[in-house]
Amino acid sequence: MLLDRIRNCKECGRIFQSNGLSKICPTCQKADETDFKKVKEYIYDNPGATMIDIVQETGVSEEKVLRYLREGRLEISGGENAILFLQCERCGKGIRTGRFCDECSREMEKNLRGAYGQKSDSYQRSRDRTKMYTAEIRKKRG
Ligand SMILES: [Zn+2]
Ligand SMILES: [Zn+2]
Repeated sequence: MLLDRIRNCKECGRIFQSNGLSKICPTCQKADETDFKKVKEYIYDNPGATMIDIVQETGVSEEKVLRYLREGRLEISGGENAILFLQCERCGKGIRTGRFCDECSREMEKNLRGAYGQKSDSYQRSRDRTKMYTAEIRKKRG
């Protein structure tokens, strides 16, 4: 038995032998999957359900439901009137799943691409302008 594979389960605190990846013991993992299925089915059947409804009807803690949502495993259904439990970490808008709203994800993707594409492009342009400017000065001097 490898000692560095011995972990304390994040859920129940029991000691278990990890496969190197899991942070919770096999018992809790199974329970977690059952909880997840319960919540998923409940939301599917009750698209307008509030967080209180979900917690009361499924017996799963709010914390866990939020974690499922943040991990993108769960998505709030129910169209425009759906009650949104999560907030975009960037602009605070209500979102259905994940960590950011569609707009912010797009914006961030653009910025990320810009850092490699657009930015170096304008950098190149300003370099060209400097070159032209120094050429002007040389001309005047000469
Ligand atoms: Zn456990
Ligand atoms: Zn946002």
